[in-house]
Amino acid sequence: MKFYTAGRDAMAKLGLEITPEMERVEPTYPVYLNDYYLGLIDPADWRNDPIARQSLPDPQELADLSSSYDPLAEEEQMPTPHLIHRFVDRVVLLATGRCAMRCRFCFRKRAWTSGMELADLSDEQLAGAVGYLTAHPAVKEVLISGGDPLMLPFGRLKAIVDAVAAVPSIQVIRIGSRMPVVWPERVTAEIAEYFGSIPGLWFATHFNHPREVTPEAAAACGRLVRAGVPVVNQSVLLKGVNDDAELLEELFRKLVAIRVKPHYLFHVDPVRGVRHFATGVEKGLQILRAFRPRLSSLAVPTFAIDLPEGGGKVALQPEYGKDGEYSDIFEQKRIKYETGL
Ligand SMILES: *Cc1c(COP(=O)(O)O)cnc(C)c1O
Ligand code: SF4
Repeated sequence: MKFYTAGRDAMAKLGLEITPEMERVEPTYPVYLNDYYLGLIDPADWRNDPIARQSLPDPQELADLSSSYDPLAEEEQMPTPHLIHRFVDRVVLLATGRCAMRCRFCFRKRAWTSGMELADLSDEQLAGAVGYLTAHPAVKEVLISGGDPLMLPFGRLKAIVDAVAAVPSIQVIRIGSRMPVVWPERVTAEIAEYFGSIPGLWFATHFNHPREVTPEAAAACGRLVRAGVPVVNQSVLLKGVNDDAELLEELFRKLVAIRVKPHYLFHVDPVRGVRHFATGVEKGLQILRAFRPRLSSLAVPTFAIDLPEGGGKVALQPEYGKDGEYSDIFEQKRIKYETGL
């Protein structure tokens, strides 16, 4: 796979010329993408293209200098380096700061902003994390994230997963990886089979647009599913990319059809350099409302905001009523519902 580390080269590959405004973004937020994902862009309409908007630098990234790089206060909730412990039963382990693509809307953009890059998890840090997990048996699940853990060589990835899986109190491992979407070949049969051999291992990926559900991406998910690994999807609601009920309906249907369960739809976090992607919470609620009569519950994710200051993920639902009277999901009549209590 050919990777591009300069926006100019990526644009040239599309037969386009980069603008000086775009290039000014790169010293702060560098470009990293590959032939596969570039190939999904429509060069004729690149300025409006949802794939381009996720991957090519945009001067709007530099417009917001007031927001925090870490509004969720992850850095404050690290009892040991690379390990975020916010909730009772689950933690996040940051395996690397590297990804197969630098998504322009990334909520953990600080992990790859120039001068702030998160290094790969070291042996010492892994030992620190394992020690913490061993001492805190209330933690039952580890999300191995980053960055993208599948950027690590297979041997290193395996060493990390094996070490975590060996902690007696750990019952579930959730691998957070965008590889099926941005570099499907990287989800090799070897990796899929290894994941399948680890009890309680789930895979959480990140599709945002139906055009990302290519035959290659479907095959990558298929390798995981066939190996016995449940796959879920966590999307971000992105202005100008996927903030449309019909489009998301198509995405979620396609995912269910390849046996990937839409798990979360997140509102954009107030992170520096990504706020131009925010839609407003109301938009997400409208989309969920539109889904109710039209889309199978298997295909509907939980819409959530991740509260600043480490307040946690809050699931939001459209309101249908209370106190014994509700609107029907077609929003045509009011219906009484007495519980008899
Ligand atoms: C999102 C997140 C989790 C996982 O939460 P779920 O709702 O189970 O997906 C765990 N720890 C941290 C710090 C998180 O941000
Ligand atoms: S793959 Fe995930 S962690 Fe990596 S840049 Fe994209 S959104 Fe961020």
